[in-house]
Amino acid sequence: MKDHHFYYIRDLTRYERQKTWKVNIGGVFVGGDNPVRIQSMTDTLTMDTEATVEQVIALARAGADYVRITVKGKNDVQNLKNISEMLRKRGFEIPLIADIHFNPKLAEMAAKYVDKVRINPGNFYDKMATFQSRIFSDEEYKEELQKIEKQFIPFLEVLKKTNTALRIGANHGSLSDRVMSRFGNTPSGMAESVLEFLRICKKVDFFDVVVSIKSSNTRMMVYAVRLLNYKMRLEDLMYPIHLGVTEAGEGEEGRIKSATGIGALLADGIGDTVRVSLTENPVNEIPIAIKLVNHFKSYINHQPISAPLFAQTNPFEYERRSTRQVLNMGGEELPVVVADLGEHTLHEILPIRGKLIPDFFLSGNKILDASGENYPVMSLAEYLFESTRWGRMKFIRTNKMEFDRFMENNPEIIMKLKQTRKTVLILESLNKNPLAELRAFFMTLETHIWKVPVILYRKYNESGREDLLIKASSDLGGLLIDGYGDGICIANESDKITFTELKDISFKLLQASRMRMSHVEFISCPGCGRALFDLQETTLKVKEHFKHLNHLKIGIMGCVVNGPGEMGDADYGFVGAGKDKVNLYKGLKPVKKHILFKDAVDELEQLIRENGDWVEPEN
Ligand code: SF4
Repeated sequence: MKDHHFYYIRDLTRYERQKTWKVNIGGVFVGGDNPVRIQSMTDTLTMDTEATVEQVIALARAGADYVRITVKGKNDVQNLKNISEMLRKRGFEIPLIADIHFNPKLAEMAAKYVDKVRINPGNFYDKMATFQSRIFSDEEYKEELQKIEKQFIPFLEVLKKTNTALRIGANHGSLSDRVMSRFGNTPSGMAESVLEFLRICKKVDFFDVVVSIKSSNTRMMVYAVRLLNYKMRLEDLMYPIHLGVTEAGEGEEGRIKSATGIGALLADGIGDTVRVSLTENPVNEIPIAIKLVNHFKSYINHQPISAPLFAQTNPFEYERRSTRQVLNMGGEELPVVVADLGEHTLHEILPIRGKLIPDFFLSGNKILDASGENYPVMSLAEYLFESTRWGRMKFIRTNKMEFDRFMENNPEIIMKLKQTRKTVLILESLNKNPLAELRAFFMTLETHIWKVPVILYRKYNESGREDLLIKASSDLGGLLIDGYGDGICIANESDKITFTELKDISFKLLQASRMRMSHVEFISCPGCGRALFDLQETTLKVKEHFKHLNHLKIGIMGCVVNGPGEMGDADYGFVGAGKDKVNLYKGLKPVKKHILFKDAVDELEQLIRENGDWVEPEN
């Protein structure tokens, strides 16, 4: 099957769940027509039976469909049996998943006691990545694949016998040197890493498999999963897909980052199960995941959306839509934040709290900047027919349905918009599926080669901040990841969410989609039984100390097993390396090893200073 349009889903303008095969995980099916399943992972020591059982029960009560548990060694495997028995004794049948890295033998042993085993194709048979580039000839590469197949098929036989499902879960940063040598640490590399294993599964008729590709970088994660979905469709490998943004962090940033990455895919109908990874008590992850999944139920049966019949962008890599600069919007400018003043005047909300000051303010039919300069916001008809406004800087507010109708009756708008250098569109959607409708509008703009900058506008009526940020990130995040939008304006009818909270959500959403960095990005893992320090407490401490370094990304990872690679593109890293010991990283390189935990924050500051990246905090 050939697809010249890179249709990674069947229809870019219609919400429908992508078809996948149904997989049985301990009696709770995933994929096919089953609901999107929710899962999480314990962060207790697996040898601590009581604590692990308590946490699994808390997760089940919160609404998790499956719970994953770390398995580091034989003792952990043996204890899975006790955990499972104790859970059943207490009346909980929730399917358990063993999380295993590096050790195929452990995976075989664990299969007896759990309903699914998760392996990482980057380190299961291949050695842990050294990030040293080595060139594999075609012959060598093929031989390595044959070796994998020889070992993997007997493992699949064990899974068949024990009726255990499998997750093949690749992570950005923990691909094998072999895959990286050929495909790089890229979406292609991640997709291929999974596909190599998946093809073997299909070859031996093993269908109880779920796949995943995760990254802490939302763009990377979205492009890689789209590519995987695309290639799986081409090869008729319709295995269900698990979604997650790794190391999303905690608090509002963690929630927005997760909703942006996971939401961008769910909006396209991709994803059969999700985990929201937060550096918090794992129980906190469940309500967010449920809200996220439920949000897309509102997309079902949306009004039909028309669009040019081909995708205009490459959905597998970042490319910002090319626009003409107008004031500080479009062109090479960072996307702007437009704050909706609602019923307030600019004077009433000044001075603005926090460091993040919006670039513009929407007040009725005017856009203001902080200096008080104002620009008219007009309709398409006013724009086209009112000559008194010609030559002045202006904004046009419209939506796709209105625009299509107007264009049909007034085709001259096409030429006018093409030529303008003083106009910005404020684009909203009244469709139940705003992401697809706004995307369709951009496809129209691209078809006509209109370079006009566009502000994405979306109005909600939420009284809970968490609900609002999940919905806004889900609806708009995917567009930003595709390079659409020269600014955003999130409005909310209810006054339960303050002006300050609302504008901060806009800045955080731009950061989560990597469009505009306005605060330091902390990439912290959620923690699991491998963590070598208290992640929640340490993350808060590190955040507090380095929160003013807006230009940096800092990784905080519980262990060296996955930590270093999965920090992604962090500038500095703080990684557990033994009891009370931490390794400090500059990029991917450990530069200070086995630092005492109690000295690690000061040592990290020192390292940042030595590299000229330190700035003094403002008082
Ligand atoms: S980095 Fe280590 S401690 Fe953190 S979640 Fe991954 S395996 Fe667990």
